[in-house]
Amino acid sequence: MFIGHYAVGLAAKQFAPRSSLGALIAAPILLDLLWPIFLLLGWEQVSIVPNSNPFLRLQFDSYPISHGLIAVIGWATLYASVYFGVTRYLSGAIVIWVGVVSHWLMDFIVHQPDLQLYAQSRFFGLGLWRHRWLTMGLELGLFAVSIWVYQRRTKAKDAIGRFAFVGFVGFLLLAYAGAAFAPPPSSVKKLAMVALLTCLMVPWAWWLDKHRELI
Ligand SMILES: [Zn+2]
Repeated sequence: MFIGHYAVGLAAKQFAPRSSLGALIAAPILLDLLWPIFLLLGWEQVSIVPNSNPFLRLQFDSYPISHGLIAVIGWATLYASVYFGVTRYLSGAIVIWVGVVSHWLMDFIVHQPDLQLYAQSRFFGLGLWRHRWLTMGLELGLFAVSIWVYQRRTKAKDAIGRFAFVGFVGFLLLAYAGAAFAPPPSSVKKLAMVALLTCLMVPWAWWLDKHRELI
């Protein structure tokens, strides 16, 4: 899942309005920011395989440190604890914990059975990715609802608050179209670099959110 994770971050503003959108977006995409690091370190493995369905071109051979549910709960607890330590904002910390764990649950819907609880456990995944248009419908639907929620909760203080938000949404839609229609990167290393670059969405979200205020 891709923009579905961002949808969780945007909608989270409803439940933790005082948290920056940057912190809220970082939660549901955290696992996909750790994953490329572990790929580059050689601790986790993925293969790029030919398939007419672009959603099935990555074969997740092993990723229990970034995407095993037990580890995910650990990452969620670590991030939520650090966040609470810095901000003392309990609602924000809870929403962040749920946001990190939501990643596993949403991946569970779309992934083939390749998600684990821990390194030796059996594999889970409902495989919605096999149905390309249904997957896109679900993700775009969630994304649309989340934009509506975030817009309802905040309003632009200035032009940056308006256009940086529109740009954020537009960029994600373009990136999603790329993931859904373009060929995959030619090597795992390139794939990991592209995945790592998505961390830039966090400061972008923080920046646009700073130029918006709560309604
Ligand atoms: Zn993931």
